[in-house]
Amino acid sequence: MENNTGIVFNIQRYSIDDGPGVRTTVFLKGCPLSCLWCSNPESQRGLPEITYRYTSCKRCGTCVQVCPAGAVTLDGGGVHIDRDACTLCEECVHHCVPEALKVSGKKMTVDEVFKVVKRDADYYEASGGGVTASGGEILAQADFVAALFRRCREAGYHTNADTCGFGDPAALCKILEYSDLVFFDLKHLDPAKHREYCGQSNELILDNLARVVKKGVPMVIRVPLIPGYNNSEDNLRALAETVKAAAGDAPVNLLPYHRYGANKYRMVDMTYRLEDVPELTQEELNKAKAIIDSYGLACEISK
Ligand code: SF4
Ligand code: SF4
Repeated sequence: MENNTGIVFNIQRYSIDDGPGVRTTVFLKGCPLSCLWCSNPESQRGLPEITYRYTSCKRCGTCVQVCPAGAVTLDGGGVHIDRDACTLCEECVHHCVPEALKVSGKKMTVDEVFKVVKRDADYYEASGGGVTASGGEILAQADFVAALFRRCREAGYHTNADTCGFGDPAALCKILEYSDLVFFDLKHLDPAKHREYCGQSNELILDNLARVVKKGVPMVIRVPLIPGYNNSEDNLRALAETVKAAAGDAPVNLLPYHRYGANKYRMVDMTYRLEDVPELTQEELNKAKAIIDSYGLACEISK
């Protein structure tokens, strides 16, 4: 039976980086990968969870006192939540006056999300925009995404499926049925390195890349470019060769490494592991682009 609800952790209106025109991007919670450079660590776990903003916390200890599950502790490093013990009763959230505690992730129906999405229908029409589903990983909630995209299609909104490619092929096919565009991530062409950096090998991802091509949905290949991890000439050449062979006319979009998500790791009691990685220089970015260009692929560097 079709699953009409999804776990959503953000709905971003007026987005201009998630496909053509002005868009609404629906971010879903839960991802089967755990990329070292992930800028949305609060999206990785599949269920709603409590987030903690260290800089807003007054160390009052109220959350420790009110938690019926004994899941909260407070020490010199601030508040810590035992996520296995937490029952998500939200008592701590309601009692935290400075709002240092919040819930990330909310169960929403397709109807509820569509109500938000349709508010900007005029912008979609004027700009050639539409709706993007992103994550987390959308393949993990394929019934929900397919149902949402079907509604969007009926309303005439352009749909973009932003995926890491790791997921059940049947789930991918369901979403492709209602997708006008796919943003498809490729991170590393060496299966062992992919597993080391992202938690899973890349075979399934490459198989799914071929499925998108076979289905004929236009695609943009997106490459988060992480210095010292996947920006070697060898990897970029392997990547360009793979794209050229599998999806010859798909443009490649390089996404330069940034540290915007680093501060969010503490919010969900995770550790950011790329503390010492510097951002790429313009020269390094140009060199990466030149390698991709040399294969006759259309390549852009994102801001
Ligand atoms: S209730 Fe809020 S402000 Fe007080 S210790 Fe807990 S998180 Fe910090
Ligand atoms: S949501 Fe409830 S169980 Fe979880 S930490 Fe807060 S008070 Fe404790």
